[in-house]
Amino acid sequence: MEYKHTYECLKGLQPEPFFYWFGEVSACPRPSGNEKALIEYLKKYAEQRNLPCNVDDAGNVFIRVPGTPGYEDYPAFLIQGHMDIVAVKDEGVEFDFHTQPMNLVVEGDKLYAPGTTLGADNGVGLATMLALGDTLTDEPIPHPPLELLFTVEEETGMKGIKRFDCSKITARRMLNCDSGDEHRVAVCCGGMSRSRIDKTFEISPLAEGWKALHISLTGGLGGHSGGMINKGRACAANNMGELLTAIMSEEEIPEFRICSLKTSWPSIIKVCEAVIAVPADSAEKAVACMEERFAYIKGIYKYSDPDLALDVTAAETPAAAISAEDSEKVAQCLLYLETAMYRSHYKFTQSAVTGGAIGLAELKEDGKFHVEFSVRSSINEDRQLQFKKYVLKMKMLGFDLVEYDSWKGWVEEPVSPLRDAVLEAHQELFGYEMTTGRGIGGIEVGAIKTAIPEMDAVAFAPYSTGAHTTNEHLVISRTQPFWDLVKKMILVK
Ligand SMILES: [Zn+2]
Repeated sequence: MEYKHTYECLKGLQPEPFFYWFGEVSACPRPSGNEKALIEYLKKYAEQRNLPCNVDDAGNVFIRVPGTPGYEDYPAFLIQGHMDIVAVKDEGVEFDFHTQPMNLVVEGDKLYAPGTTLGADNGVGLATMLALGDTLTDEPIPHPPLELLFTVEEETGMKGIKRFDCSKITARRMLNCDSGDEHRVAVCCGGMSRSRIDKTFEISPLAEGWKALHISLTGGLGGHSGGMINKGRACAANNMGELLTAIMSEEEIPEFRICSLKTSWPSIIKVCEAVIAVPADSAEKAVACMEERFAYIKGIYKYSDPDLALDVTAAETPAAAISAEDSEKVAQCLLYLETAMYRSHYKFTQSAVTGGAIGLAELKEDGKFHVEFSVRSSINEDRQLQFKKYVLKMKMLGFDLVEYDSWKGWVEEPVSPLRDAVLEAHQELFGYEMTTGRGIGGIEVGAIKTAIPEMDAVAFAPYSTGAHTTNEHLVISRTQPFWDLVKKMILVK
């Protein structure tokens, strides 16, 4: 194989075509919303191979590849993956995701990019499509007619797929490479209601003699609010709600006022900090009261988040704060917008079908209050009803919880010939059963199934870990089994 890209470290890795094309896409800068270089590359790829290629207004690229000899009349197969990459880098790392090719390093069985995300999410999907569609190679991989869908801006709210005209798709079987691993097939995904509260409170000076306390909640494990919502992990914003409502219920503390509040971002919130003020003679009581409530919180999360910590220290008293009445509303808002699993699967009870999470909560010193909240479910009806419930709860507190974006999920189908075929192929190849993944993380199958309900879909990918972080890496030895499974699956009639 003739190498055009310059990733020496990928040479010789198996499966060769997969890693060759992984290198090609890694050389194209592609942060979310800026996939231009890759779109141009894909256009050229199709042109060189005489493959029909369509690029829509959003930037989604759709390429058709005829079946290889002997498979021309097989039913078409759709493979889909997203082009964009979450651009995260470690502090102090100089790297421009807009202009630089990814810096790939192989260390033992690990492929990663030091100090940045790798882009295995979803470079593995792109590499799969390009390797299968490569009609110029000396050793084409036998496949049926393929429809290859490369979407833009998945990571920023499924923006690309939502604008794609799914009526272009003729295939009724599909593989998404953005979930699962080579021994675990995903059979559903979550839809999402994204919402926010925006409110500006009046601020007023604090009376003389009030004392300020800095409250810091840390030590939670966090995690993805879709994929890990069934782990029972602590949300620091919810727990801040616990602490503040504990003060609220304490008769000896007549009132408290919040000066500012902020959380870490995103997903299951690990850190929440607030500055509150109380009458000077209540300060000691307030600390004791929060510590007492925190002991309960520690008890709840003893096993899931063993390192939870509360730190309350005296702070310099700010000039102003929101009113005591508004402070109580903020406290309850943090408590009631629950980060949790709301419903489990009726049969596989360890899996969530519905859950929700505060993504961010912030009260600025000028009184601007902002909360991000999302409900995810693979069942569209449940997502909508759960969301309505939170709208009502917030209304009682005087907040407007406004939905600004939503999409449907992929409900597990009782019958799926493709899923059965994948399970059988896995059993034949590896001699043991492939597991089934059920979660409420969002992948683009939801949007495609919404447009084409009869689409028979599966999702799996080679094992990688640390997506969306600088620890992201692809496990090289897990790629060959993935590749063998894909090659076998697409030839099922
Ligand atoms: Zn992804």
